[in-house]
Amino acid sequence: MEMNKRLLYLLHRYGSVLLDEPMANHTTYKTGGPADCFFVPKDPACLGEVCEASAKEGISVLVIGGGSNLLVSDKGIRGIVVALCGEGESGIRIADSDDNLLYADARVDKKAFLEFALRRGFSGMEFLAGLPGCIGGGIVMNAGTSMGWFSDILTRVRIITKDGLVREKNISGDMISYRGLKFERGNIILGGYFRLQKAENPEEARKRVDDIILDREHKHPLEYPSAGSVFKNPEGHASWKLINDAGLRGYTIGGAMVSEKHTNFIINTGFATSSDIYRLIRHVQEQVEKRFGVHLEPEVKVLGEF
Ligand SMILES: Cc1cc2nc3c(=O)[nH]c(=O)nc-3n(C[C@H](O)[C@H](O)[C@H](O)COP(=O)(O)OP(=O)(O)OC[C@H]3O[C@@H](n4cnc5c(N)ncnc54)[C@H](O)[C@@H]3O)c2cc1C
Repeated sequence: MEMNKRLLYLLHRYGSVLLDEPMANHTTYKTGGPADCFFVPKDPACLGEVCEASAKEGISVLVIGGGSNLLVSDKGIRGIVVALCGEGESGIRIADSDDNLLYADARVDKKAFLEFALRRGFSGMEFLAGLPGCIGGGIVMNAGTSMGWFSDILTRVRIITKDGLVREKNISGDMISYRGLKFERGNIILGGYFRLQKAENPEEARKRVDDIILDREHKHPLEYPSAGSVFKNPEGHASWKLINDAGLRGYTIGGAMVSEKHTNFIINTGFATSSDIYRLIRHVQEQVEKRFGVHLEPEVKVLGEF
């Protein structure tokens, strides 16, 4: 797609721009075709203006974080992909020490946030141990585990609305769902406020984190590219068990395989295309539906044309 010259000039002014950039370089699946334009802003405050200028040209804008929950089509993504990730502890501040409130920029890696909070003697955020990606992606996905979700500690978000305005919004109960926080279409997350607790015993908090990481290393096929669990757990079921009981452990299409270690992971064995992964997702859905009459809904965000 031909990018408008004025728009390109604007993007170059505000950050770095790569044209026809393979999304395989930006997804943990290591698959996905080219984004017309891959943009990393120096300061996300420019995104209001960028979105307005793009909308005038009829060019779509997609914001991503660390790409750890994405399956991007081999045909790529039309328009502009904005990457908000890769920030360290400099993107975190204590917003209110009496209230144990931290603010983290959307671009901050979850790992950096966890480390920052542990070092300052907080607890309540240990469930973040081993979760890939960034704060913004974690907020949108309401990421978490059986030990906690983002919505347990997130109180308020800073967003850019689709009209380009920077706003703060409290998290209310009706926004919270399993693997998702509901925002208005087109909202971009700039950061979030997290309420933690002072750990009674900070060393115990660190020990919990170390144990969680060891347990995840033991249970998850981290030696292969993946996007973590592919399917949400349907009410009353564990997806990994349904997939296992449907006889799909190790089932392969092209370079994509249902992990033998954890059957809710589909792994890239080294040469998978996104199409292989997509076809395997569909196959698993069909087989589980046929055998048990249960629909598996993907947790992974499928982007582009398949
Ligand atoms: C090995 C492995 C293990 C995993 N384990 C878990 C787990 O235990 N629990 C869990 O919940 N998830 C898990 N995941 C999935 C994934 O890591 C989480 O969903 C993570 O929070 C996604 O963050 P991200 O920054 O990579 O977001 P991305 O994958 O880049 O984006 C996710 C979604 O958020 C949107 N988005 C991202 N940033 C913004 C922003 N700033 N503004 C607006 N929209 C935005 C994207 O458009 C997309 O729709 C795992 C993944 C892997 C690879």
